[in-house]
Amino acid sequence: MPSPREGCLFCSIVREGTYVAKTRGFVAIDDINPQAEVHVLVIPERHVDTFRDIAEFHSGETKRMLEFVAEVAKQVGLTDYRVIANVGPYAGQTIFHLHWHVLGSRNGNESRLPQMTAVTEL
Ligand code: 5GP
Ligand code: ZN
Repeated sequence: MPSPREGCLFCSIVREGTYVAKTRGFVAIDDINPQAEVHVLVIPERHVDTFRDIAEFHSGETKRMLEFVAEVAKQVGLTDYRVIANVGPYAGQTIFHLHWHVLGSRNGNESRLPQMTAVTEL
């Protein structure tokens, strides 16, 4: 596993071992403060501050990461869902280790996700 960034919460979490799902180089965990019935975070083991730095991943890693996002959503019972990466503090990013939010409701539950917040309201 790549070396952790000192003081990074998600570098610690990916090393702790309580996952919803795991594949080589990536883990999925439940969000501590869920914003939907299902709210998981997909986190690369390798520390990258934000989505802006996505070029630091090799194309194969990026492909596997996105495939893992889709696989995790399926595994946790989602067919319709939202995938979000908050990029920078003004877009709501609070943890500066790249992660994908996967939000939705399980099959059969018709409750809708909230409307997206307009960028002008951020
Ligand atoms: P961001 O705001 O950076 O896009 O997303 C950070 C997410 O991490 C938030 O949804 C927040 O609830 C979640 N989070 C913060 N601290 C912890 C933690 O210690 N454990 C887990 N599982 N999630 C966390
Ligand atoms: Zn980190």
